[in-house]
Amino acid sequence: MSEPSIFTRILQGEIPGEILIETENVFAIRDINPQAPLHVLVIPKTEQYRDVTELAAGDPALLAEVVAVAKRIAVEHANGEYRLIFNNGPSAGQSVFHVHGHVLGDIEENKLVGF
Ligand code: 5GP
Repeated sequence: MSEPSIFTRILQGEIPGEILIETENVFAIRDINPQAPLHVLVIPKTEQYRDVTELAAGDPALLAEVVAVAKRIAVEHANGEYRLIFNNGPSAGQSVFHVHGHVLGDIEENKLVGF
């Protein structure tokens, strides 16, 4: 069994992190290094899927729940509009291999980050 991911350790309260939403299957935390006024990570509780490609193939309903929670975050913490970014693989910027979507909101004009 490999070590729990950094996100699982936050969920379990082992390391600090602000959990904004927790459902049966999904949780959402503020990113430690925000790239927009609102930058939240939406994460399935299971570590079974490394990236969104695996998640979409393995559990489409869980992916749909991730998207629904992303929208909820945008409504509750920004103006309801949001970018949802999944990095897939190290060369695409992925550093944590426990699938997560980046929810970016309240983005200032001409400041769409490309990370
Ligand atoms: P990735 O690069 O895999 O798409 O995204 C990983 C994200 O996790 C990064 O945006 C990074 O800032 C965030 N992150 C890494 N370590 C921590 C942490 O300990 N706490 C929180 N809240 N976010 C983290």
